[in-house]
Amino acid sequence: MPFSDSYARPIEYLRVSVTDRCNLRCRYCMPEEGIQPIAHDTVLRYEEIVRIVRVAVSMGLIHVRLTGGEPLVRRGIVDLVAQLAAIPGLEDLSMTTNGMWLERYAGELAQAGLGRINLSLDTLRSERFHDITRLGNLEQVLRGREAALKAGLRPVKVNTVVVRGMNDDEIVDLARLTLLPDWHVRFIEIMPLGTGEHWTENGVVTVAEIRARVEAGLGSLVSVPNETGVGPARYYQLPGAAGTLGFISPVSEHFCHACNRLRLTSDGHLLPCLMSNHSIDLRTPLRAGASDAELQIIFERAILAKPRGHHLAEHQLPECLLPMSTIGG
Ligand code: SAM
Ligand code: SF4
Repeated sequence: MPFSDSYARPIEYLRVSVTDRCNLRCRYCMPEEGIQPIAHDTVLRYEEIVRIVRVAVSMGLIHVRLTGGEPLVRRGIVDLVAQLAAIPGLEDLSMTTNGMWLERYAGELAQAGLGRINLSLDTLRSERFHDITRLGNLEQVLRGREAALKAGLRPVKVNTVVVRGMNDDEIVDLARLTLLPDWHVRFIEIMPLGTGEHWTENGVVTVAEIRARVEAGLGSLVSVPNETGVGPARYYQLPGAAGTLGFISPVSEHFCHACNRLRLTSDGHLLPCLMSNHSIDLRTPLRAGASDAELQIIFERAILAKPRGHHLAEHQLPECLLPMSTIGG
């Protein structure tokens, strides 16, 4: 049984940031020069991550997603996946990646026990892709996606952050992909986090607008159940489509009432809420020799510290100042 927070929400999902480093510099996430990396000795070692996840699983956090920064840039990531996949009780192990190195790793990741992949992809145009990510190569990412599917990392869900003036003219093209086999696309409202180059209120395209634009271009959407996800997206299908379309609206439509997650930063802090700077240090007690029972108590504290919700829709910016690449999205 998962542990519930103060608002009776069962907490069963842990997002683990394995690094704050990244091989891309997406404009809405990082400055061109990158961010000051956190000190090497404060980054959790793999055996520490495995111990923390083991404790988390014992408390009912049975869905784990690896993220970053870019998880595939951390050396030995396949070993970490194998060690995590072997934890009894862990039901679901997934990864969010920019896909740049997926072609190289997909087979090994699948063999090591990774279940599925979320792929971040904001455009289908090569030049624009390079412009948004500053260092990325669209063709390489698309080959990575094919490699993931071939390796059995299914479903591959594409995450698209929509920003007005950046890629909102591609909403219909991206949605149309779900008519093809193995394409699932989730549109995400830009959040006021990261370096915020594109963040202004005008940059936000609400999910209501995205949805209206999809329906105007491609027909009415039918609501479908969320079969593989444990996140906040609502899922729909276009007429005749095999793939699903999801909408994630952190800003305009609160999903806080259904929040089921905690985040672990790469330097070992638990974050009860993405939109708050409240963090709970797990690394210091862990390195001081805390027992599993003591670590469980820290997890309980983090779960009980989850706020009821945030107030972005009322134009209150969060207190959270951590970059998205540190939090892990
Ligand atoms: N590097 C990996 C990637 O891009 O998939 C994992 C980490 S990245 C921080 C996780 C997700 O956060 C990506 O899908 C990215 O598009 C999204 N993201 C980054 N900054 C964001 C922002 N300000 N608002 C909404 N989503 C954001
Ligand atoms: Fe890197 Fe992901 Fe941030 Fe892009 S969104 S800069 S790929 S961490």
